[in-house]
Amino acid sequence: MSIEKEKHVIEKMIVIYCHGKHRTKDDLCSECQRLKHYAFKRLDLCPFGDNKPSCRKCPIHCYTPEMKEKIRQVMKYSGPRMIFHAPVEWLKHRIEEILDRITED
Ligand SMILES: [Zn+2]
Repeated sequence: MSIEKEKHVIEKMIVIYCHGKHRTKDDLCSECQRLKHYAFKRLDLCPFGDNKPSCRKCPIHCYTPEMKEKIRQVMKYSGPRMIFHAPVEWLKHRIEEILDRITED
């Protein structure tokens, strides 16, 4: 899974969340915009780059507690909806993996 693909997944999830929860139409609200930039930046800064191991095994906990909570809400809301809309195996696997990473403390 490349960084670009992971960004794509995260962006989609934030869009679903923002449109559904914050009633936005096209653009994200400023809060979600901020979350997206934050998540992208974390990926850009990931020292493993495209070769990064499963995030589940990653020793680096790169999200602050505040952002972790926000992204957790997004995943909780958008995860099941994305699986429904795009029943692609890798995507499903990916979301489960991301959920695992952010929900473990
Ligand atoms: Zn929003």
